[in-house]
Amino acid sequence: MKAILFHEHGGPEVLEYSDLPTPQPGPGEVQIRLHAAALNRLDLWVREGWPGIKLEYPHIPGADGAGEVAALGEGVEGFKLGDRVLINSVLSCGACKHCQAGKDNVCVDFHLLGETIRGTYAQYIVIPKDNLIHLPDDFGYHEAAASGLVYQTAWHSMVTRGKLQADESVLIVGASGGVNTASIQIAKHFGAKVYVVGSNAEKLALAEELGADVLIDRSKEENWSKAVYKATDRQGVDIVVDNVGAGSMPLSLRAASRAGRILTVGNTGGAKFEIDNRFIFGKHLSIIGSTMGTRDDFDTVMELVFEGHLKPVIDQKFPLQEARAAQERLAAGKQMGKITLEIS
Ligand code: ZN
Repeated sequence: MKAILFHEHGGPEVLEYSDLPTPQPGPGEVQIRLHAAALNRLDLWVREGWPGIKLEYPHIPGADGAGEVAALGEGVEGFKLGDRVLINSVLSCGACKHCQAGKDNVCVDFHLLGETIRGTYAQYIVIPKDNLIHLPDDFGYHEAAASGLVYQTAWHSMVTRGKLQADESVLIVGASGGVNTASIQIAKHFGAKVYVVGSNAEKLALAEELGADVLIDRSKEENWSKAVYKATDRQGVDIVVDNVGAGSMPLSLRAASRAGRILTVGNTGGAKFEIDNRFIFGKHLSIIGSTMGTRDDFDTVMELVFEGHLKPVIDQKFPLQEARAAQERLAAGKQMGKITLEIS
């Protein structure tokens, strides 16, 4: 099969479009002929590498993918050849106390497709049957691939962990990334009032289109926590969604109301920053971290996506061969929504 792969860490130039043996399904596994994959920032970090990361080379990037069932391993029920499916990229052991409690994203042997396991930038992939859900006939492969990781991540953070309520106010730091656009839609779906801090007018226009109520342009308001305070009658917001980290977290702590919650699933701006602890105890703040979602979260949120209540935003589609250009676009931060790969 054809795949995008790399043999060593580095910049986009390490990506090759090359041949690898097509993986074959073992017991309980399904071989998928992929039609679309979606990019995530994770793909860039894995390609660049970090201390301690261990990969089986050549490595194939990609957590998100959708396609059709091409072969079934022994004992697989519920799927047949040709079924259209979406992959859930959270791989868990199924046996540890967290998995047994339905918290498979907390699994002691947690893996993410494309991170430490070969991923979806390929014509074929083999995946455990429990990591697949059926796609409705009229639902596109690209829209599905663009949804898998970001919606379950945003849902788990805001709903399962953050206990978002209809009458609350939610501030989302960042307007155009995949998880943030998903978060705006989920907050609106719950009936919350949504504030968005974005880097420029174009990105804020997308947030507004998705339903954001109050837009704050940080290219004009460097200390945007003040703008949030003004816009909320000096109360602050109930929930802050901060997946930026460095540069934004100190302001997020200021923008939160008394007894507010700060939700984080990542740090696109950097992992290390100083925080003023007085805000945390003085205002009774909770900082709630999570990564990915549970199977229940995935099933619940994808149902809302399939029914059209939540709509994936696709920025641009690239052919698989041009994955390098796709990653360069993501790295430059120019995208508005998800970048996907067309796999033929
Ligand atoms: Zn487990």
